[in-house]
Amino acid sequence: MASELEPEVQAIDRSLLECSAEEIAGKWLQATDLTREVYQHLAHYVPKIYCRGPNPFPQKEDMLAQHVLLGPMEWYLCGEDPAFGFPKLEQANKPSHLCGRVFKVGEPTYSCRDCAVDPTCVLCMECFLGSIHRDHRYRMTTSGGGGFCDCGDTEAWKEGPYCQKHELNTSEIEEEEDPLVHLSEDVIARTYNIFAIMFRYAVEILTWEKESELPADLEMVEKSDTYYCMLFNDEVHTYEQVIYTLQKAVNCTQKEAIGFATTVDRDGRRSVRYGDFQYCEQAKSVIVRNTSRQTKPLKVQVMHSSIVAHQNFGLKLLSWLGSIIGYSDGLRRILCQVGLQEGPDGENSSLVDRLMLSDSKLWKGARSVYHQLFMSSLLMDLKYKKLFAVRFAKNYERLQSDYVTDDHDREFSVADLSVQIFTVPSLARMLITEENLMSIIIKTFMDHLRHRDAQGRFQFERYTALQAFKFRRVQSLILDLKYVLISKPTEWSDELRQKFLEGFDAFLELLKCMQGMDPITRQVGQHIEMEPEWEAAFTLQMKLTHVISMMQDWCASDEKVLIEAYKKCLAVLMQCHGGYTDGEQPITLSICGHSVETIRYCVSQEKVSIHLPVSRLLAGLHVLLSKSEVAYKFPELLPLSELSPPMLIEHPLRCLVLCAQVHAGMWRRNGFSLVNQIYYYHNVKCRREMFDKDVVMLQTGVSMMDPNHFLMIMLSRFELYQIFSTPDYGKRFSSEITHKDVVQQNNTLIEEMLYLIIMLVGERFSPGVGQVNATDEIKREIIHQLSIKPMAHSELVKSLPEDENKETGMESVIEAVAHFKKPGLTGRGMYELKPECAKEFNLYFYHFSRAEQSKAEEAQRKLKRQNREDAALPPPVLPPFCPLFASLVNILQSDVMLCIMGTILQWAVEHNGYAWSESMLQRVLHLIGMALQEEKQHLENVTEEHVVTFTFTQKISKPGEAPKNSPSILAMLETLQNAPYLEVHKDMIRWILKTFNAVKKMRESSPTSPVAETEGTIMEESSRDKDKAERKRKAEIARLRREKIMAQMSEMQRHFIDENKELFQQTLELDASTSAVLDNSPVASDMTLTALGPAQTQVPEQRQFVTCILCQEEQEVKVESRAMVLAAFVQRSTVLSKNRSKFIQDPEKYDPLFMHPDLSCGTHTSSCGHIMHAHCWQRYFDSVQAKEQRRQQRLRLHTSYDVENGEFLCPLCECLSNTVIPLLLPPRNIFNKLNFSDQPNLTQWIRTISQQIKALQFLRKEESTPNNASTKNSENVDELQLPEGFRPDFRPKNPYSESIKEMLTTFGTATYKVGLKVHPNEEDPRVPIMCWGSCAYTIQSIERILSDEDKPLFGPLPCRLDDCLRSLTRFAAAHWTVASVSVVQGHFCKLFASLVPNDSHEELPCILDIDMFHLLVGLVLAFPALQCQDFSGISLCTGDLHIFHLVTMAHIIQILLTSCTEENGMDQENPTCEEESAVLALYKTLHQYTGSALKEIPSGWHLWRSVRAGIMPFLKCSALFFHYLNGVPSPPDIQVPGTSHFEHLCNYLSLPNNLICLFQENSEIMNSLIESWCRNSEVKRYLEGERDAIRYPRESNKLINLPEDYSSLINQASNFSCPKSGGDKSRAPTLCLVCGSLLCSQSYCCQTELEGEDVGACTAHTYSCGSGVGIFLRVRECQVLFLAGKTKGCFYSPPYLDDYGETDQGLRRGNPLHLCKERFKKIQKLWHQHSVTEEIGHAQEANQTLVGIDWQHL
Ligand SMILES: [Zn+2]
Ligand SMILES: [Zn+2]
Ligand SMILES: [Zn+2]
Ligand SMILES: [Zn+2]
Ligand SMILES: [Zn+2]
Ligand SMILES: [Zn+2]
Ligand SMILES: [Zn+2]
Repeated sequence: MASELEPEVQAIDRSLLECSAEEIAGKWLQATDLTREVYQHLAHYVPKIYCRGPNPFPQKEDMLAQHVLLGPMEWYLCGEDPAFGFPKLEQANKPSHLCGRVFKVGEPTYSCRDCAVDPTCVLCMECFLGSIHRDHRYRMTTSGGGGFCDCGDTEAWKEGPYCQKHELNTSEIEEEEDPLVHLSEDVIARTYNIFAIMFRYAVEILTWEKESELPADLEMVEKSDTYYCMLFNDEVHTYEQVIYTLQKAVNCTQKEAIGFATTVDRDGRRSVRYGDFQYCEQAKSVIVRNTSRQTKPLKVQVMHSSIVAHQNFGLKLLSWLGSIIGYSDGLRRILCQVGLQEGPDGENSSLVDRLMLSDSKLWKGARSVYHQLFMSSLLMDLKYKKLFAVRFAKNYERLQSDYVTDDHDREFSVADLSVQIFTVPSLARMLITEENLMSIIIKTFMDHLRHRDAQGRFQFERYTALQAFKFRRVQSLILDLKYVLISKPTEWSDELRQKFLEGFDAFLELLKCMQGMDPITRQVGQHIEMEPEWEAAFTLQMKLTHVISMMQDWCASDEKVLIEAYKKCLAVLMQCHGGYTDGEQPITLSICGHSVETIRYCVSQEKVSIHLPVSRLLAGLHVLLSKSEVAYKFPELLPLSELSPPMLIEHPLRCLVLCAQVHAGMWRRNGFSLVNQIYYYHNVKCRREMFDKDVVMLQTGVSMMDPNHFLMIMLSRFELYQIFSTPDYGKRFSSEITHKDVVQQNNTLIEEMLYLIIMLVGERFSPGVGQVNATDEIKREIIHQLSIKPMAHSELVKSLPEDENKETGMESVIEAVAHFKKPGLTGRGMYELKPECAKEFNLYFYHFSRAEQSKAEEAQRKLKRQNREDAALPPPVLPPFCPLFASLVNILQSDVMLCIMGTILQWAVEHNGYAWSESMLQRVLHLIGMALQEEKQHLENVTEEHVVTFTFTQKISKPGEAPKNSPSILAMLETLQNAPYLEVHKDMIRWILKTFNAVKKMRESSPTSPVAETEGTIMEESSRDKDKAERKRKAEIARLRREKIMAQMSEMQRHFIDENKELFQQTLELDASTSAVLDNSPVASDMTLTALGPAQTQVPEQRQFVTCILCQEEQEVKVESRAMVLAAFVQRSTVLSKNRSKFIQDPEKYDPLFMHPDLSCGTHTSSCGHIMHAHCWQRYFDSVQAKEQRRQQRLRLHTSYDVENGEFLCPLCECLSNTVIPLLLPPRNIFNKLNFSDQPNLTQWIRTISQQIKALQFLRKEESTPNNASTKNSENVDELQLPEGFRPDFRPKNPYSESIKEMLTTFGTATYKVGLKVHPNEEDPRVPIMCWGSCAYTIQSIERILSDEDKPLFGPLPCRLDDCLRSLTRFAAAHWTVASVSVVQGHFCKLFASLVPNDSHEELPCILDIDMFHLLVGLVLAFPALQCQDFSGISLCTGDLHIFHLVTMAHIIQILLTSCTEENGMDQENPTCEEESAVLALYKTLHQYTGSALKEIPSGWHLWRSVRAGIMPFLKCSALFFHYLNGVPSPPDIQVPGTSHFEHLCNYLSLPNNLICLFQENSEIMNSLIESWCRNSEVKRYLEGERDAIRYPRESNKLINLPEDYSSLINQASNFSCPKSGGDKSRAPTLCLVCGSLLCSQSYCCQTELEGEDVGACTAHTYSCGSGVGIFLRVRECQVLFLAGKTKGCFYSPPYLDDYGETDQGLRRGNPLHLCKERFKKIQKLWHQHSVTEEIGHAQEANQTLVGIDWQHL
């Protein structure tokens, strides 16, 4: 595409470049009609610059526009070169003290929870860090774009409105100074001129609606004939639809289509075709046709190119204006003036108005440009902010309606600016009083909800999708209302009162439409057919909750307003329910000589609604009357006499009865919608303005009624009146066993009713109801939540109601009621209830759900038992009621109440099964307890002149009246005390009797009315008490004993399991690791242990028995028996890589023989250590495979393992595996039967081997020249002279059984396949190399982990690691037996040649580029293939030793060559030791061989130190290698942690402690070898500084350093833009924790193709950075992401915690987050251990939903 457009770039019109800004400006200065002049200029040039082809060229266009169009304006404005003019303006400017930084998408914003006036007040990061709030409680969020920093806005902050930076400017502010005084008259005039013209031009062209015709003054003479087919964004069609359609319509590739779609989504429009009208029209019709099937079609216009050109310039112009006003506040003010100046058409004709009003017609890109300009101009100028606010309010209705019908998100609508205006308290107040804003918002809102029922109430039933969509958009108006109300007035003017009350009227109208909406009727017989729509009504209620609360707060702040509001609310309630008796028959109820009139109404038969906002608002206001004492101060102003208590309570009571009936199962046929409604009614999000207020309304009504009357009405509404009014009804009732369901139902209803009474009397924690403050209320909530269980901070916050500022008020009181327990490595910090708060626990706390209540009960009883207390949970002591509600306590001692209590106790005493329940009794006991507590309180607080009228104790002592002759309540309690079936409640009854006695005593001692009572009972009581105490004590002892035994037993049981588990594991593992057991046995510790060479310690052969986990059969591991295998997982790894940019480019051609010391791509093997028969595994794997195939056909889901790639889960531990390793005996013993004492030294050995190699190579050459005659051949052989005892034609016999051989091949092939990512091919010569490589790499990585953790090399390794290394090493050593001998020999020759040069191998890497440990492993393991043909008597051991020594020496040279030779100034402390002088000598030799290219000779001390440090990892790896290879136990010294085990390692490895001795002993051959190594050109290049090399020791790789404060990461990510779509912000910036790259994840723009599939940026990155495995941090979500391959991934808990020890995945809570080092280390450890893939496997197994995520697109 680029080449096609190239010529256009060059074809810049000469005339454009020749334009001179100065000249044009000069011409304009002279002009008489400036507007015409400028317009002509634009008409001529704009189409020449913009829109010259199918694709925009922003850079070129911007450059030309600046030169030809904007430059002249700048000259004109400044009257001189703007390069001088603007700085001058800037200097003269007195900058504003407002920050006003406009937020980018994803930028972090901060709000102070202590000082922000409301949560919308935010600071940018820079201001926040320089403010006092950083030490306060703050919240951090990421901006969704739009909005600006409020630093410097004194109205936004209660304290500290300026940061350090902006404070500097405040000293000079003179209030309301006109910024124009800093500008000269000329500049003002010119600025005014040019701004007016340009702003008008921009507005005109952007709002231009014609498609092919320009405004008259912009029309050109010669008009080109080019058009654009312009595609616009909508929110209806999906990305996929648009891409698909475009490919069809304009015939482009998928990639181009994606590009178009991305731009359309981002900017709101994009031309998709350029050409003549016909050509564009054609594309348009295809697009329209293709997208109009189900929905409305995509918007497409064919526009003339010059219109598009002018529009593009119009946008450029607006941005230009935005940047120009940045120079001076004076310029800003002029622009504001120009914008708001009324045009010739009067009302709404200012430029600002015109833009706002066409907002919904503009495309996204245009909108955001002008919104930004508004923010940086109008909203930054205090004077014009006010004027703009007025314009905004005047247009409010129109703007909102436009928004509601538009389909773009709110953030793209000008309506969204409301948050910037309405949240400013002074503006909000002004708009309320002057523009009547409250009423306007509410009325606009109601206008959009037109569906009403016959009574004028909202009707959401049968809502269509379109209406639902509209409804969602309308909700933003409620948000606006909330903004307006968010700051409460401190002073009221009469005007404000008047307008607020007008708004309140409108609000009541709204609530009136909700009162009684969505009524429901109980369904009997049949289940309802369709679940009715309920969510809309609840959404409305939920959104309004805070508004309702705020309305009350406003009312509370002014007595006059409160009184008026109360009257208005009452009036509306009367309108709603005034005639509630209409058509309903009055009935009379009577119990215990009391009677009352009411209506006949049954919740179970008639309509009932859960929505009663008017009643509830009145309840709220009533409480305020009490709280503010207005009720006592101005009773004459209040309509208290008009209140009809029965009317007030009627509807809330019905609602509560409905809940009870639902609970009793009476509404089952009404389906889930009702269950959901009841749930939300009680839910923490709604209850404050629903359930809570209903309780308050009942309290209000009852406090004004005779409690007997109320109780009767309540009985009637609960449909229980019959039961309690008819004597012996209960008995009769229960005998009719036929209606078991009905009995059950009634029992539940009675329980619910008693619960309600408990609430009415007991819930006094709202300020105004009881004498408490807000703190007491929140404390009580927390105490009850924590009574259920200890909770994390976020859990607790979720269970508490939030106010409009998202605060729960919890932090201020939590310390008083709870202890905080810090989190460990996993889990969260927890709050635990302080023990002293337990006494405030109320079992019948009204916010408990049923489940919570029973959990809390259990927890509290358990606690009491632990403290050796009785198990009673008596009601807590309550605060007193406020006077207005004081009479409520009389319910408890009312006759009807006593009758109810008596009746239930009677049932319990008679105990006849059905008619009562224990929970019923429990509630009655609780009520009695409450009454006793109440009386006690009264007696304690009594003053001389008052008589305590609360005489519950007297009343319950009296037996029933004549007709019934029932025993007294007290007597019944005494009886129940001994009832065997009430064991659980005994403690409570005992508590009641005890309290009763205490109260009685108080009453007797108090001066007022002593109560006569028989002495006997008390006496009896006390002796009985004593008796009981004794019994209780005994029972307690018995219980404790029982508990102890139980505890012991369970402990034993656990031990048994643990032991068995170990036993089980042991049978699997310990048998297999006999040598490991031997390692630690003291037998070995006495002698010097040597791991290799002729002096190798001889280990007696161990027999090894293992059990198959699949068939449980035991078997001995033998050479000739069936193979046993370990489940294993092979993966490519870059964990040790020192060069992440390097990866295998072409695996088919890649030669892995030499590992580069940067270890850039290794093959790692791990195992869970579980052993199976090879054939058992084979069968298991086949079945897994078959099962998986069936499953994939059915579900097409990825499983956590990929069977097609040979993956399976270990049948025992479900560990992810992809192959098996055979279990073998030490393989060296099998071949190493020969043992001669006379062995060659290194020099002789090298010579012999070289000869053998030469012979082999000669033979190889012979074989490869096929035309040779046989005679000639034999001649050559003779000529060759085979070395003595060497028989190259000998082929050793493979000692292993067929089954073992097969497994050797299986694992070898797997390593090859995974390590190189190629198709399996067991014949490939690289197979043995990959096996050796995996062995070496795995040992290296384990050595790294041990060193990093400062663990000893042979300390207690986990069994699985030990088993894995042993099997892997032995396997690698045995693998050559199944490979071709000549191939292995070939490898050996080549490897050997890298150290001992040889004519036939030339292009070998220099010793700087060879990882010596890999070389060692390769040489040692390939050597048997050569040695087996050698019958001269050189043993394998000798070869091993010489190879090891040779490689060690090469490594020393490598270290010396690369040692960092900078002297660190430290002088040696000790006199030169032997090692130092030796190494110095060696270094001198090197210096000589390198032609003095080696740097100056540092001290021997320094060199020796470098050598020792550099060679340690190699020695450690070698020790591990030979240990597992030869099975020699490790010396005990290395098994313990310690600083250095250098000497021990040397001894174990048969090395002299002075390593340099190796060179001295073998100087004969070594000198020539060193010389050959140094001669290499690469070494020269390195020494001359032309290339780099790895230094030793290599440092461990770590995950990147993360900042302590999470917000700096967010900030970093917000500055990151997508690398592919030119400066666009990335939506899901994701940080690679391995290398620190930021990626644009989960987005179309950054998808790339990998192996023929589209993958997201993260997946693509894993392939280069982690060979398929990745560890990422998703910055916006604060979530760690693990990826493995294309199909596997999981989320992992991030290493960032808030102060409460919790993570915040998704950043929803916004608490400041800090790095938790321990957790980060844990992630790093997972990485080092190569356990990421395994972790993903476990996560996916545990959570199947993870499997459904399209990981490859992340
Ligand atoms: Zn700021
Ligand atoms: Zn600031
Ligand atoms: Zn603060
Ligand atoms: Zn088996
Ligand atoms: Zn396992
Ligand atoms: Zn990376
Ligand atoms: Zn991108």
